[in-house]
Amino acid sequence: MEEVDLLVVGLGPAGASAAAAAARAGARVLAVDRRLHPGLPVQCAEFVPAALAAETAAVPASALQEIGAMQTFLAGEVEHTPDFRGVMIDRAAFDAALVAQAAQAGARLLTATAFHGIDADGCARLGRDIRLRARVVIGADGPRSTVGRQAGLMNRALVEARQVTVPLIRPHAATDIFLSAEIEGGYGWLFPRGAEANLGLGLVPAAKDRLKPLLDSLRADLLAQGRIGPGTRRLTGGAIPVGGLVGPVARIGTVPVLLAGDAAGLANPITGAGINAAVLSGRLAGAAAAAHVAGRSRALGDHAEEIADLFGPSLDLALRRRAELMSEYARGQRPGTAALRQSWIAYGDYWARAPQTMEEPA
Ligand SMILES: Cc1cc2nc3c(=O)[nH]c(=O)nc-3n(C[C@H](O)[C@H](O)[C@H](O)COP(=O)(O)OP(=O)(O)OC[C@H]3O[C@@H](n4cnc5c(N)ncnc54)[C@H](O)[C@@H]3O)c2cc1C
Repeated sequence: MEEVDLLVVGLGPAGASAAAAAARAGARVLAVDRRLHPGLPVQCAEFVPAALAAETAAVPASALQEIGAMQTFLAGEVEHTPDFRGVMIDRAAFDAALVAQAAQAGARLLTATAFHGIDADGCARLGRDIRLRARVVIGADGPRSTVGRQAGLMNRALVEARQVTVPLIRPHAATDIFLSAEIEGGYGWLFPRGAEANLGLGLVPAAKDRLKPLLDSLRADLLAQGRIGPGTRRLTGGAIPVGGLVGPVARIGTVPVLLAGDAAGLANPITGAGINAAVLSGRLAGAAAAAHVAGRSRALGDHAEEIADLFGPSLDLALRRRAELMSEYARGQRPGTAALRQSWIAYGDYWARAPQTMEEPA
């Protein structure tokens, strides 16, 4: 029976970053992905914050164009957010660059190999007939993580998204966001990638049957405005976790398990952005797993604290704003403009502190 220090499940941004970090720290790493070519097909709008370029060379290696601002369209008005800096990346090239870094660091990679689970004897079942023993497992297997499910840590809420890539009539250097009460628990987007753009929309699974008509309607508006051209170059979609942090540390039987990226619910519950968090949490999980196998007894506990410190405040605010918005729908109402403003990052209302509770005088 083969034994490895670390089994990484998933070779998206979280898993590839985890595998690279652990291998660099000296761990014997096997990383698997059920896809033949991890990262393909692309299921992403391909925007990353500028800060991620300082963290990984995969950003400049896959950059398509710079983004300098955000424009939010709500109730016939446009909110301009200057200095909203980021990069549009070719997500397939980005993921491939991270996978190459993991291989260069010394991780062994197996593609077209799905993780099925960990048996009662602690052995992991992979692909058609592979069984192996891993001292630690990292679940970086996305929003519907198999590792997370077996550890009893599933994402609590998801948004379903659909996206078409369309011709863009004029060059554009902003991410455009479309808010409306009809787009329940989500929003529409137009993100430029040179001469084309990713046009998409996400909303709660209960309203999934409205995904296509709402996207078609947004597309018809933009076509009529002369902003996009006819025709679909690519069609994609997928799920985004919006319920906040799960785990990130657990056990399956006696095997310690760390979750990273979307598997750990680290995408932002309001914006759905998760690439930055996937890279950072994957890297930290890989380093923690390597430290654990090297005998540092507090490595996994410290990792859980570090993840909560790093992502907790922004996740907590986004979760609170999401809960406020969704409570309107739960009461059978359509949120008005004020409620929609409060649930989007372009508006000061989103960032406003919750009112302090008054102390009763003694
Ligand atoms: C339509 C859409 C648009 C988005 N746009 C943006 C955006 O513009 N900016 C942004 O920051 N975020 C965006 N996101 C979110 C972003 O794509 C994710 O947060 C990010 O991919 C998370 O990375 P990850 O490595 O955790 O998971 P993933 O990228 O999902 O990678 C998981 C990997 O695990 C593999 N896998 C799954 N199950 C198994 C198994 N059982 N065995 C083996 N392998 C398995 C999969 O094949 C996959 O390669 C978008 C998401 C969607 C759906």
